[in-house]
Amino acid sequence: MEPELVDVVVVGLGVGGEEVAGRLAEAGLSVVGIERDLVGGECPYWGCVPSKMMIRAANTLAEAHRVHEFAGSTRVSPDWAPVAERIRAEATDNWDDRVAVERFSNQGGRFIRGSGRLEGPGRVRVNDQVFQARHGIVLSTGTRPSAPPIDGLAETPYWTNHQAIEVARLPESLLVLGGGAIGLELTQVFARFGVQVTVVEALDRVLATEEPESSEVVTAALRADGVNIHTGVLADRVDHDGQKFTLRANDARYTAEQLLVVTGRQAHLDELGLDTVGIRADQRFLPVDDRLRVTDGIWAVGDVTGAGAFTHVATYQAGIVVADLLDRVRRSDTGAGADPNGTVVPRADYQALPRVTFTDPEVGAVGLTESQARQRGINVQVGSVSLGSSARGWIHRADGLIKLVADADRGVLVGGTSVGPAGGEVLSGLAVAVHAAVPLAELRSMIYAYPTFYRAISDALRDLG
Ligand SMILES: Cc1cc2nc3c(=O)[nH]c(=O)nc-3n(C[C@H](O)[C@H](O)[C@H](O)COP(=O)(O)OP(=O)(O)OC[C@H]3O[C@@H](n4cnc5c(N)ncnc54)[C@H](O)[C@@H]3O)c2cc1C
Repeated sequence: MEPELVDVVVVGLGVGGEEVAGRLAEAGLSVVGIERDLVGGECPYWGCVPSKMMIRAANTLAEAHRVHEFAGSTRVSPDWAPVAERIRAEATDNWDDRVAVERFSNQGGRFIRGSGRLEGPGRVRVNDQVFQARHGIVLSTGTRPSAPPIDGLAETPYWTNHQAIEVARLPESLLVLGGGAIGLELTQVFARFGVQVTVVEALDRVLATEEPESSEVVTAALRADGVNIHTGVLADRVDHDGQKFTLRANDARYTAEQLLVVTGRQAHLDELGLDTVGIRADQRFLPVDDRLRVTDGIWAVGDVTGAGAFTHVATYQAGIVVADLLDRVRRSDTGAGADPNGTVVPRADYQALPRVTFTDPEVGAVGLTESQARQRGINVQVGSVSLGSSARGWIHRADGLIKLVADADRGVLVGGTSVGPAGGEVLSGLAVAVHAAVPLAELRSMIYAYPTFYRAISDALRDLG
């Protein structure tokens, strides 16, 4: 069959692919968008949005439990039904992407449901159709949950984030394998709704990619919510007897009605036909340059690039891909030369990558942690304060901290952490400082509103020396 000629083919319409495909279609290109599951991907259906709805609900319970501390008394009766209903009705449309498909079509895109696969340079097959892309192919196929090779695990009906988000009736007890951001957010939600949760983490602390101080605060908060946390535990066997799960690690055993595995995610490159364009499929992620190019005529965006598994990374990269592709179209239409100075197409730069773990307290972080900065040979200076020593933290009786990591030679921040009731929001100031390399002297000369949580940044700056 003759391939059909189009301008661009986008394989995978999660947040990254949907943004690229929609914007290119709006710019007047003929764009084919291919999605095998739901347009929008993980974030709206099984990730960011429903999990944050769960967190919002769980945090109202936690606030209500504090009434006796500040304002009298109240009785709290948790009920999961409104949470499940809000996720079904408002977040996911009962896991139906009709609205998203319509949105893409209204932007001028052509949607095809199916699995896309490269079939040689510029060509993509989906179902029984083959497309030849005149200007480019964008791979935005994301990741899927992965499970460690623990004996017996694969034969059990364990949960991934999908079942945890879709749950309509909560289990009485839950084992959570994996103490990263996703695992801890869901742990706290379920614990606050009365589930007896046990976290089992192989590393020596939860939230191991962030500052150790953040791990300490979150561990204490989760324990206060009644969560059991076991770190440094390497599970070696999992069984399910029809009623409950048993997880074994050396002599220890942990049991619960349900098991949630959140130990990481995997890009399935072997499904993409990469060998037909000379790219190795036995890599963890798709390597890209700073314009997100995999090779001539192929771009990648989102989780599949391994640059950071966040929606804001996918949409940031999408903006660069759109600019680069439109620049290529312009040059091919006008015969203009390449843009060697990067004036038209911005280059990807992750030095100020922000990340937020939406536990209570929230953990916001940007740039390098102290140990990452030291590993890079930076002349590191650290300043930190506990939130409780700030006026707002004390008034709120809030746990948290601000930690700043500075490059003493350059006199700028290279990283920052804000843990607290609004840690993700407080982070914005630190993100600007790291992104724009604002001199420490400038940061010290600012006026910080009293009594805000972010005012603790000025105390941390003083602690820097
Ligand atoms: C529980 C949870 C909570 C999260 N919370 C946050 C948060 O608060 N903030 C944040 O920034 N990020 C969060 N994330 C991460 C965020 O969801 C991802 O970073 C984001 O979805 C990545 O977008 P993507 O487009 O790269 O991939 P995805 O969203 O995974 O989309 C990829 C799409 O490609 C499709 N696909 C794959 N292969 C093919 C193929 N061959 N043909 C056709 N289609 C294909 C898939 O079906 C999928 O729809 C969370 C994730 C989880 C799991």
